[in-house]
This record gives sequence, structure tokens and C-alpha cells, in this order.
Amino acid sequence: MLLVVLAGCGSRDPGATAPEADAVEVPEPMEPTAEEPSETAAPAPVPLDPAPDPLQAEREALLAMDGSRSTSHGGPNDGSLEGAVALPLRGPGFRFNPRRSTDARFGTVEMVQALMAAAARVHEELPGGELTINDLGYASGGPIPHHGSHRAGRDVDTLFYLLGADGEPLPSVGAPLDPAGEGTDYRDLAVPADDVPLRIDLPRTWLFVQALIEQESASPVQRIFVVEHLRTMLLDHARQHGAPALVIERFADLTCQPSYPHDDHFHIRFFCSAEDIPDGCEDSAPIYPWRRADLREEGVRPVPHRPRPDRPMAPTTTDEEARAAAGELHPSVTAFLERREAWSDAPHPGRRWCR
Ligand SMILES: [Zn+2]
Repeated sequence: MLLVVLAGCGSRDPGATAPEADAVEVPEPMEPTAEEPSETAAPAPVPLDPAPDPLQAEREALLAMDGSRSTSHGGPNDGSLEGAVALPLRGPGFRFNPRRSTDARFGTVEMVQALMAAAARVHEELPGGELTINDLGYASGGPIPHHGSHRAGRDVDTLFYLLGADGEPLPSVGAPLDPAGEGTDYRDLAVPADDVPLRIDLPRTWLFVQALIEQESASPVQRIFVVEHLRTMLLDHARQHGAPALVIERFADLTCQPSYPHDDHFHIRFFCSAEDIPDGCEDSAPIYPWRRADLREEGVRPVPHRPRPDRPMAPTTTDEEARAAAGELHPSVTAFLERREAWSDAPHPGRRWCR
């Protein structure tokens, strides 16, 4: 259960959530403790040749696939998906979070390819970390529990790359990070002895978003929802390390903190591909001038999303339910949750593309 309480406590009434953002997201988080080897188990034999990875062929086929295979219909909050592809469970530099339902790993060809390619670039340039990918959507899109959007194959949640106290990469968990970029994997919320301190891995997390932004794609990134203080840290990191100015500017435009704080994961949304637009794909705001210019070159006009007020809703979790399900909390967890209130409200920084 664990982090459900943390997610729940930071969330707002789903009805009052900003229309573009998720309702109540429950970033499932805690990594199961690594299994201790049993005392009686024999040591595993070392193979002479590494076994071929059975997922390799699946990944290669996916990366070679034409984007025309999938079609995103409607908008992120009420759309659907045709010809979806499944994100492979593992690949170079990424894994689909084993704690999420494998039914929730479907998206457009372009989105799945973009995630795999960006994770592979981080893996190549800064080996040692691993991107953990949470929910994409269902094979046919549509309502999905705990999300207000994720319905048209163009939304995905990814956890941040994390470091442990020793500065080494840790498998990512959905732990909320404070304004210093630090958090705790509380594991058992009633027991302080098993707590694992962690902090954001800025170089890998930045390189991941840079890789996403730099990709030539028919369906570029439209939005990255993330808490304001991590946005600022990522921008500072990028400027200090000489990241390309255009990428920094683009990231600054794409990022927003909605009413759910997104201090434990990114929510990334992709634009309709030009070829999906005539088939009914709709982009919610904003459509930036650079995107309009790209589409003009393709001879396509974007179709602004028309919200459907009667859209069906999937079950979600209220703050009260999440708290009740979490059970006993030790005082340090309670103290963190109280501190978290300070950054849970959507800020209004007055940026052009962020309401
Ligand atoms: Zn999301």
C-alpha cells in the first residue's frame, strides 16, 4: 500500500483537478525488498554465453514499426486508441514497473518508440541507472483507474532516476521529493528502521528529457507535468552543464505543475502525429507556435480538443481512502506529509504556456 497514502494526500478533489492533468494518480511505488537468497540455494551456474534476450526481437520489431500503425482518437481525457503497441517489459535502460498492471503499457507507436529511444540514450551516455515507466494506457485506450487522462495512447508516467545516500543509482520508486530534491523510500510506513533516503539523479533525469525533446518525431512531447521545484532544479542543472539552449527553452515551455503536485513522477504527454489528426486525433492546449509551424509544413491544421462533459470515469481513490488504506504511519511519515502541503498547490508562475 505504502505510498498510496502519499499520493492520496497530495491530491485534490478529482472534480477540481486541472482538466489537462490526471485526477488522482496513484504512482505505485515501493520497490519490493530484494529477496534474500535462501541459505540452501545452490549458487547459480555462470553461463558461458549470455542467453539471448527473448525480448530483443520484440523491441527491434517495435523500433522499426511505422507510426501509421497506431491512431490516437480524441483527446487525452476522453479519447481512445487503435493499433496500439505494448511497451516491452524491459529494454536497454528501462523497465516497465513490475508493480503496475501489464494491461496499462499500451500507447501509440510513436510514444513507445520515443520512450525506448530516450531511455537507451541515457543508458549509453550515463550507464548505471534505469528508467522506470509506470502506466501508459490500455490497448484500446479509454478510462483507466487512477488517471483522469491516459486515454488516447499519448500519456505516460515515468519515475525519476534516483540516487541513494552513497550517490549510486537506486531502482526508482514513486517517492515524493522535497524542494532539496530529497525523499525517502519509507517501505513499511509504520517502521522507521527500514527507511531508505534517496534523491533525484539530476544528470540522468535531465538527459532523459533532453533526449525526448531532441528526438525527431512525428509526435513530439507536448507537456511534462512536474512539481515546480524539480522543474527549477532540472533547468539549473541544464544551464550549468551547457545543455543546448533550444532544449532548455523547450523544456521550460513544456513543463507545468498541475494541482496534483507531480513530485514523485513525470507525466509526459505527446502531440497527435500529423497523420492521426485527419483521423480524429485532438490536441489539448497549448499548441505552441513551433508546433503549428511544423504542422503547416505537413499541410495539416491542428484540431483543438473539444471536451466531452459526459465522458465515462474510471474508479479512483480519494484522499480519505488512501489514508485509511495506508494504516499506521510513523511520525516521520506524518511530518513529511505535513511538509509536503507547502508545495502541493499548483503555483501560478505567470508563464505563457502554464495556467
Ligand atoms: Zn499520468
